[in-house]
Amino acid sequence: MNFISTRNAAPAASLSQAIAAGLAPDGGLYVPEALPVSRELAPGPDIAETATTLLAPFFAGDGLEGELASICREAFDFPAPLETLGTPGDHVLELFHGPTAAFKDFGARFLAACMARLRRDEAKPLTILVATSGDTGAAVAAAFHRQPGLRVVVLYPDGRVSPRQAHQLGCFGDNIAALRVDGSFDDCQALVKRALNDADLQVRAPLSSANSISLGRLLPQMSYYAHAALTHRAATGQVLNFVIPTGNLGNAMAAILARALGVPLGRIVLATNANRVLPDFFAGNAYAPTASVATLANAMDVGAPSNFERLRWLYANDDAGLRAAFRASSVDDATIREVIARRYRDHGEVHCPHTATAVKVLEELRAQGEGGGWAVAATAHPAKFESVVEPLVGRAVDVPPALAGLLARPAHADPVPADYDALRERLLA
Ligand SMILES: *Cc1c(COP(=O)(O)O)cnc(C)c1O
Repeated sequence: MNFISTRNAAPAASLSQAIAAGLAPDGGLYVPEALPVSRELAPGPDIAETATTLLAPFFAGDGLEGELASICREAFDFPAPLETLGTPGDHVLELFHGPTAAFKDFGARFLAACMARLRRDEAKPLTILVATSGDTGAAVAAAFHRQPGLRVVVLYPDGRVSPRQAHQLGCFGDNIAALRVDGSFDDCQALVKRALNDADLQVRAPLSSANSISLGRLLPQMSYYAHAALTHRAATGQVLNFVIPTGNLGNAMAAILARALGVPLGRIVLATNANRVLPDFFAGNAYAPTASVATLANAMDVGAPSNFERLRWLYANDDAGLRAAFRASSVDDATIREVIARRYRDHGEVHCPHTATAVKVLEELRAQGEGGGWAVAATAHPAKFESVVEPLVGRAVDVPPALAGLLARPAHADPVPADYDALRERLLA
């Protein structure tokens, strides 16, 4: 299968080319030239096997086709259990059992497994440059750690990520370097963008990115929705509906794409924090990307969701059709706090602030009389956001073993100014 740009001004690319490139050369996002025909799927015994079947049409004819099964086994070596919530008919799909306790581990590990195979015969190492405000950098660092032919340079705003997040970014060593930038997240992003566009630098030290618009992260995220929905239907005969916490629409776009491929998903409803660009659009307003505002669910602090372009592509740029198909609700910080405290008090559940937005939206749907089986996507373990969660539930949140292992390692990050020449020098050193 070939992939084209959402902006239609770039040549078609193979899957390997699209994964290696990240963004299409015209600035658009890669999408399949034609969507694989929707088909009847059966669940495999685990996510890796379900994923191998689901993703096969995208790999057909590509150099990585023969490696798909091994990529899936390597990337999806941890579970995503569908658990019941304390309220009847409600479930939670736990996406936080990977090495850095957030759903981004799935996409990052799959991308790393693909990239390692693509770089096998290259003489120069490829540097993955990532700007992060927390979760992405940790997932990418963990996924690429000790992958041959690859190194990672993570830039984060010094003093503006939580101590636990900073520790996770700096604890790997080997082929992973963490740089704490004297500046904001936007400064970090601008530095990365400039480096990726520096043609001379690219020749001397090949660079790529690993952000959430990469096909190598989007496609694998369909796998856990497919595995949960197919397993659930096999067991109950029921189609599963989802509420998905959303920032850049990467996680939700994967569910929407999986449904288009024949995965038995019912309704997909989006939950956002106080950043209202999607709720406003689905309520009938023009799409109006804007600067983001800071919230408790900070991994969703997005004012211009990058995957919106893919969603429009899937609906053939028919905004009326899009608005008829989806709804999105915004949940403010006071409500996030209220939900975390109340769900613990009433049901013994402990949710991270991102997951709490989805729990709230599911509560609203139930209050409006919505029936059937629903699940919220739990995007991170609450222990990653202990400074928000622990005061609300009044107890310490147990740290999952993988995360505890990372926090027990020594950590180091080099300070750098928010200055391009300084970064360039480091990349060439
Ligand atoms: C990245 C992230 C999100 C938002 O995911 P998108 O794909 O950007 O919509 C939600 N929750 C957590 C914990 C995250 O790390």
